[in-house]
Amino acid sequence: MLLEVRDLHVEFRTRDGIARAVNGVTYRVDAGETLAVLGESGSGKSVTAQAVMGILDAPPGRITGGEILFQGRDLLKLKESERREVRGAGMAMIFQDALSALNPVLTVGDQLGEMFVVHRGMSRKDARAKAVELMDRVRIPAAGERVRQYPHQFSGGMRQRIMIAMAMALEPALIIADEPTTALDVTVQAQVMDLLAELRREYRMGLILITHDLGVVADVADRIAVMYAGRIVESAPVHDIYKAPAHPYTRGLLDSIPRLDQKGQELYAIKGLPPNLQHIPSGCPFHPRCPMARDVCRTDVPPLYEVDRERGSACHFWRECLHG
Ligand code: SF4
Ligand code: MG
Repeated sequence: MLLEVRDLHVEFRTRDGIARAVNGVTYRVDAGETLAVLGESGSGKSVTAQAVMGILDAPPGRITGGEILFQGRDLLKLKESERREVRGAGMAMIFQDALSALNPVLTVGDQLGEMFVVHRGMSRKDARAKAVELMDRVRIPAAGERVRQYPHQFSGGMRQRIMIAMAMALEPALIIADEPTTALDVTVQAQVMDLLAELRREYRMGLILITHDLGVVADVADRIAVMYAGRIVESAPVHDIYKAPAHPYTRGLLDSIPRLDQKGQELYAIKGLPPNLQHIPSGCPFHPRCPMARDVCRTDVPPLYEVDRERGSACHFWRECLHG
């Protein structure tokens, strides 16, 4: 087991009260495995990842319960210096917006090289050679020359490759990619996603792929965890989810993927808005938007029912959903 998050709770103190961003999230990622964490914005998927990385804004963010086990150690019990070490060499994160994650006044070569100087004690010259090698590895053409360029001189897709190179530099056991292709054109999205999948295989890394777009994960993910209102509402191997969702929210997400054979038809959209995290609805938090909701849904919080050994659903009526 590479990473196991157990019953994690995170709160944010806001002017209007406590926002319960993560409410008992449990998931795991094995070496060489890709877990896609899926949900609308505000579902808690990024906050969970930030807690894993140890980069949660604190305060106002606060972990109020749970465990984060990484290679057998509970990260929440480590000292900040030990935590920094894990963050440097054990796990790395890729963000949506490469331009703001990169330093605009340093060449990409200097930024990539810095990793090796700081963490591996390499000379500037050797670090530069490593930077070129990495840029080559993520298929940036003419890496030997482009290593001297600044972030703004690269296209969005190329910048995202640089981010990937940076995350890969120290060959971490786990990479967390938070909406890594959301800002890119569709064709470039696919290339960047393919690259990530390829590197993950080659280095046997665990990959957590955070996205709001179920359409991009089909080919790269092994398992999917669907989040809603700070909880996992469905967790299953990817092909099971595509075959038949066991939660109405997952079904809604699936039905909102544009399909070629439905060109021109209006796209399905889940009605309503994600809940306000200061006032999460009673019972099943999805009930105000759920086409299958009944009385019990307003009062009883559904646990994560075991659908089978590999699969869980937090819906009282998962059987109907699965077979309906
Ligand atoms: Fe819908 Fe009820 Fe299932 Fe919640 S528990 S997803 S409201 S049917
Ligand atoms: Mg986010």
